[in-house]
Amino acid sequence: MNCKQACGLITGLIDHQLQPETVAAVEDHLAGCPSCTKAAAQERRLKQAVSSMKREKPPAELSKRIQEGLAKAKKQSTRSAKQ
Ligand SMILES: [Zn+2]
Repeated sequence: MNCKQACGLITGLIDHQLQPETVAAVEDHLAGCPSCTKAAAQERRLKQAVSSMKREKPPAELSKRIQEGLAKAKKQSTRSAKQ
């Protein structure tokens, strides 16, 4: 495997989309090629940055609290309607 081939497979490697034998071949190349290792590290960092941006939704704990608050408010309004 040459650098061009390895470079083309780095994204797939990070996304875990490669066959095990392809993974082995890419990792084998990376082990002996500092520039491709660097490219893989950069790609991985980029990927992490993107996925951390995607995670900027309200945390599960917060939305649970909102739902509980809504449920409580609903219960209270039903009770006061009966009185
Ligand atoms: Zn290389």
